[in-house]
Amino acid sequence: MTSAGRFAPSPSGELHVGNLRTAILAWLFAKSSSRSFLLRVEDLDRARSGAEAEQLRDLQAVGVNWDAAVVRQTERAALYDDAIARLTAEGRTYECFCTRREIQEAPSAPHAPQGAYPGTCLRLSHAEREIRRASRPASIRLRSDTAEWAVEDQLHGTFVGMVDDFVLRRNDGVTAYNLAVVVDDAAQGIDQVVRGDDLLPSTPRQAYLATLLGLPAPEYAHVPLVVNHAGARLAKRDGAVTLGDLAAVGIPAQRVRDLILESLGLPAGTLRDALSEFDPKKLPKTPWVWKNPQA
Ligand SMILES: [Zn+2]
Repeated sequence: MTSAGRFAPSPSGELHVGNLRTAILAWLFAKSSSRSFLLRVEDLDRARSGAEAEQLRDLQAVGVNWDAAVVRQTERAALYDDAIARLTAEGRTYECFCTRREIQEAPSAPHAPQGAYPGTCLRLSHAEREIRRASRPASIRLRSDTAEWAVEDQLHGTFVGMVDDFVLRRNDGVTAYNLAVVVDDAAQGIDQVVRGDDLLPSTPRQAYLATLLGLPAPEYAHVPLVVNHAGARLAKRDGAVTLGDLAAVGIPAQRVRDLILESLGLPAGTLRDALSEFDPKKLPKTPWVWKNPQA
C-alpha cells in the first residue's frame, strides 16, 4: 500500500485563494514526509460543468502537481455501496424518514450534544417503518455506539468531537460525505489528511466510522482558513479571489503562489524550493487575512 496525502476539491466553482493555500499546504505536508500526492474530485454533489477542468488547471498554475490519475467520487459508487452493505449486515445501520424540520423540532435525547440526531427512527416499530416507507424515501444512518470520539491532529493535538447516528446515504440516494471520504482515503492508500480546520468537527465521526469498517484512520492536520477583512471565511464575493479574477487585475498565478508561501512564513518561489524550509511546527496557528494585492 502506498503512503499518500491528498487534496479533494468539490467542483462547484473556481478555487479561491483559500482553497489554493490549503492545496499547497497539503502538497507540502505530503512531500515533506516522503508521501505521494493524490487528487480526488468530490463530485457527488453540487458539481458544476467545467469546474473540474478549471480547478485542475489552477492547481497546476500554482505548482500543485499530483502523482497518479485523478479519482472522481461519481465513479466509485460500488465501493460506497459495499461499505454500507457491510455495516448493514452487522446491524449497524437503520432507515431514517425524518425531515430536517422534524429533526430540529424533536426533543433531544438526555445528555445528547447540540445538533445530534435525536434517534427518532431508531425506535420505529416494523409497522411504523412500513407506513413511513410508503410516503417518503429513507436515508440510511449509522447506528453509533458512542457519543464522542478522539482524534490526534498535528496542529490541534487531541480533539474530541461528537459522534451521533450520522447519515451514510441521503434520501436522494447520494452517498454522504462522511462515508465517501473514509472509504476513498483508505482505498487510495491515503494516510495523511490535510484540509481546512472547518472540517475538524466532523473528523471524529470519520475516524470512528473507519474503525467500524476495519480501516486505518489517517493522520490529520487541519490548517487555518483564509478569511476576509471582517474575519469571515473567504468567499467569491470578497473581490478578486480566484486566479482568473486576479489575472484580470494584473496579478499572475506565480505572484499568488508567492503570496501564499509568504503567508506561511516560506520563501517565494517554487513549491520544491519552499519544501526545504517547510516545518509543520512553525506554521501560523491563526487564519490568514486576505488583502487584495496591488498589481
Ligand atoms: Zn429519522
